[in-house]
Amino acid sequence: EVDWFSLASILFLLMFAPLIVYYFIMSCDQYQCSLIDPLIDLFTGNKHLSDIWNKTPTLTYKAVAIYTLWVAFQVVLYLFIPDFCHRFLPGYVGGIQEGAVTPAGVVNQYEINGLQAWIITHVLWFANAYYFHWFSPTVIFDNWIPLLWCANILGYAVSTFAMIKGYFFPTNAKDCKFTGNFFYDYMMGIEFNPRIGKWFDFKLFFNGRPGIVAWTLINLSYAAKQQELYGQVTNSMILVNVLQGIYVLDFFWNEAWYLKTIDICHDHFGWYLGWGDCVWLPYLYTLQGLYLVYHPVQLGTANAIGILMLGLIGYYIFRMTNHQKDLFRRTNGNCKIWGKKPEYIECSYMSVDGTKYYSKLMTSGFWGWARHFNYTGDLMGSLAYCLACGFEHILAYFYIVYMTILLTHRCIRDEHRCFSKYGKDWKRYTAAVPYRLIPGIF
Ligand code: NDP
Repeated sequence: EVDWFSLASILFLLMFAPLIVYYFIMSCDQYQCSLIDPLIDLFTGNKHLSDIWNKTPTLTYKAVAIYTLWVAFQVVLYLFIPDFCHRFLPGYVGGIQEGAVTPAGVVNQYEINGLQAWIITHVLWFANAYYFHWFSPTVIFDNWIPLLWCANILGYAVSTFAMIKGYFFPTNAKDCKFTGNFFYDYMMGIEFNPRIGKWFDFKLFFNGRPGIVAWTLINLSYAAKQQELYGQVTNSMILVNVLQGIYVLDFFWNEAWYLKTIDICHDHFGWYLGWGDCVWLPYLYTLQGLYLVYHPVQLGTANAIGILMLGLIGYYIFRMTNHQKDLFRRTNGNCKIWGKKPEYIECSYMSVDGTKYYSKLMTSGFWGWARHFNYTGDLMGSLAYCLACGFEHILAYFYIVYMTILLTHRCIRDEHRCFSKYGKDWKRYTAAVPYRLIPGIF
C-alpha cells in the first residue's frame, strides 16, 4: 500500500526534481552559481521566466551526437568486452558474479567489468587530451546544458520503457511489484531486475556506467576549463577531483560488492533509478567542480590539508564499514573483525514462496557503533567536497544537504524493510545497537 506521505513525496519529486536540476545548472550558467539572484530578478520584475528560458542553450545536434556516442560506447564496453582486470589485479573481484537472492528466490548473474570500462574510458580521455586532440577536454563543460536535455530524454525514455516492460514483457514476472498506484509504480519501479537478453541488466548498467564513469570525466572537464580560463588549476579543484575520484574508483573496484547493496538488492527499477542515474547523479553530484569553474577557490595549505584529511578519514570509515559487513556475510561470520571473532544476532525470514532463510546481523566493529556507520563516513567525505569550495555560495553545499536527506531517508527506509523482514530479531538488533548514524546522538 502507498501511504499519502510517500505519494506526496513522489509527486513532488516527479514534478520538481527536473526543475531543481535545471535551476542549479542555469544559475551557474547565467548567475555565476548564485541561487538567490535569479529569484531576486524574478521577484523584482527585473527579469521574466521567459528571459531566463530564452537565454538557456537548447538541444543541439552536437550534444545529441556526443551523448549518443557516449552511451553507445558504454554499452559496448559493458556488453562486449568481458572483464580481464580480475586476471591481473590481485584482490579485484570481476568477471561473472552472482547477485543476492531476489524475493522470488532467483539468483542473477552479472558480468562485472566496470573497472575495466572506467580504465579504458579514462585512458582514451587522456590519450585524446595529450596526444590525439580529436576533441577539447572541456567538451563536457562547453556542452553542459545541451547535454542535460539529452540526459533527460534518456532518463525519461528508459524509465517509461521499464514501466511498459514491467507490464507486458517482464524478465521475471514473480519479481514484479504492482501497487496499483501509477505514479508510485512509475517512480519506484515494477520490475526488480529488468534485463534485455541474458546480460544487459538495467540496474547495473544505469547505476554504474553512463553516470558514474562520467563523474570523473566531468570533473576532469571542469579542471580543463579552469586551466583554459585562468591558466591554472586551483588546489580546491584538485581536491575535488582526487576525493571524488577515490570514491568513484572505490565503487568500480568493489562493483561485485555493490551487487549486495540496497540499490541492486532491494530497489525496483523505475524513474528513481533510471532518471536519477542519467540526470540527477551526473549533474548534481558534480556541482562542486562546476562551481569552481566560476569561482576558482585557492585554499590555504592548512585548510587544504584539513579538508583532505576529513575526506580521507570519511572514505576510510565508509570503506571499512562496508568491508566489515561484506567480509562477515561472505564468511558467514567466520572471520575476524578488529582482531576478534565478530558478535552477531541470529535471525530468520521467509521469502514470498514461503521458504525459510537464516541470516546474521553483526554487532561488532563499526556495526556495533551505529547501525549505518558506512553512511556516516560517506557524509564526512561529502562534507569535504563541499568545504573545498569555501563559504561564498550555498550552491556548493547542496551535495551535503542532499546526501544527509538521502542517507537519513535510506536509513529509515532500510530499517522499515529490515523490520518487516526480520520482525522481533530486528528489534533485538536495534536494542543491541541503539544508534543509527552518530553514536550517542542519532
Ligand atoms: P548497507 O550497505 O548499509 O546495507 C543495508 C543492508 O545490510 C540491510 O538492508 C541488511 O540487509 C544488511 N544489514 C544491516 N545491518 C546489518 C548488520 N549489522 N550486519 C549484517 N548485515 C546488515 O546500505 P546501502 O546498500 O544503502 O549502502 C551501501 C553503501 O553505498 C553505503 O556506504 C552508502 O553510504 C553508499 N551509498 C551511496 C550513495 C550515493 O549516492 N553516493 C547512495 C546510496 C548508498 P539484509 O536484508 O541482507 O540483512
